[in-house]
Amino acid sequence: MTSFVNTIHAKTILVATQNEKKRAEIKEILADMPGILLRGPDDFPFLPEVEEDGNTYQENAIKKATVLAKACNTWAMADDSGLEIDALNGRPGIYSCRYAGPNATDEKNIEKVLSELKGVPKERRTARFICSIALADPYGLFFIVEGRCEGFITEGPRGKGGFGYDPVFSVPEYHQTFAELVPSIKNRISHRANALKQFKERIRPLVQKI
Ligand code: IMP
Repeated sequence: MTSFVNTIHAKTILVATQNEKKRAEIKEILADMPGILLRGPDDFPFLPEVEEDGNTYQENAIKKATVLAKACNTWAMADDSGLEIDALNGRPGIYSCRYAGPNATDEKNIEKVLSELKGVPKERRTARFICSIALADPYGLFFIVEGRCEGFITEGPRGKGGFGYDPVFSVPEYHQTFAELVPSIKNRISHRANALKQFKERIRPLVQKI
């Protein structure tokens, strides 16, 4: 548990994602990182909407982190992530969240991907999750990191955990989808975990300076 002294000296960071499950994963993976105090969008009442209109994960993450850090006068970290399927020429990619339409549910997005992959054999169903995470303060960007996780798309959904495309993304080493894996394993091997590992290395010298 974080001590009171650690808490008052910690750097507050806004974790700029509305996706609660994603925020929970980020908090879990950064739990052992001293010197930072993570806050969600609900702790900042006047949060502006930031349109994700970039052409890459990096552009979207940098825009979200820099705009929100300035607006909230705090440090902000923002991630942008997506699923790239080789047989679909990298789709859904940066459109992963809204692949089946503007208000698509996870189920609808999965349905669309599975129908586009109908008849594609296992060896050609390779895919990867990618996650870019940016950290900014009110004056601009500190850094951006990127993590990946390789796998393949299953024939149908399996498992109840996670979110998004987790039920159809299988990790060869475990023979299980992200939705079947226990959270502690997903949080060790995922694209977000890989990006956050680099994030910890990059943020350490910045918080030590404070
Ligand atoms: P964004 O990064 O919030 O724009 O969301 C990207 C979309 O990619 C999410 O809405 C999910 O559909 C998908 N996605 C990103 N990370 C994961 C993950 O860890 N599991 C499953 N789907 C994910």
